[in-house]
Amino acid sequence: MKHVKEIMEALIKKFPDLNLTTLNGMRKKPNHFKILISCLLSLRTQDKNTKIASERLFAVADTPKKIINLQDKKLEELIFSSGHYKKKAQILKHVSNEILTKFNNKVPDTKEQLLSIKGIGPKTANIVLAFAFDQYALPIDTHCHRIPNRIGWITTKTPEQTEKELEKKLPKTYWKEFNHVFVQFGQTICKPISPKCSECPINKYCKKINVERFR
Ligand code: SF4
Repeated sequence: MKHVKEIMEALIKKFPDLNLTTLNGMRKKPNHFKILISCLLSLRTQDKNTKIASERLFAVADTPKKIINLQDKKLEELIFSSGHYKKKAQILKHVSNEILTKFNNKVPDTKEQLLSIKGIGPKTANIVLAFAFDQYALPIDTHCHRIPNRIGWITTKTPEQTEKELEKKLPKTYWKEFNHVFVQFGQTICKPISPKCSECPINKYCKKINVERFR
């Protein structure tokens, strides 16, 4: 991977605030369970919707037991703004039940244990490890997968492959910033369609792989 230091430092300078997204904001005073649940709510929706759903839910139920005890309809209503609310309500109940019964009411702190719970995938597991337990992990969402491929750092087809490649190639000193920097960069400048290359702080280092139109 070329120009890693230059690219990472330019992006960290551009997006210095670690606490802009709901999940990153929770790093300050981590509540393991709330981070896990917010992450599950954040799948396939925007951050603002995750925030509304998380706040409404946690005002009523912020422990596995309280979530299990909620009526299905009530839970669906509380998390409605996160979208896919029926499916997410089932996942929240299942995950809460597993934590309560198999893990002694504590969110597990290893990837293997987290992945053993149905409904928790690699991205969620890595977010929990990184944000809740402050471990070295690389949560890879759509932006974290797309941009390193565009820049020319890696050539991968899936977020799982991206995680493996970056684990090998990205120096650990940048792991903690990587997710929040690339998510904000992807949401504002290096967008999926028509990225704003004219205002991009790393334009001169980028190979623009598969970028057909840009601004
Ligand atoms: S130059 Fe364009 S494609 Fe490359 S990283 Fe910047 S915004 Fe994305």
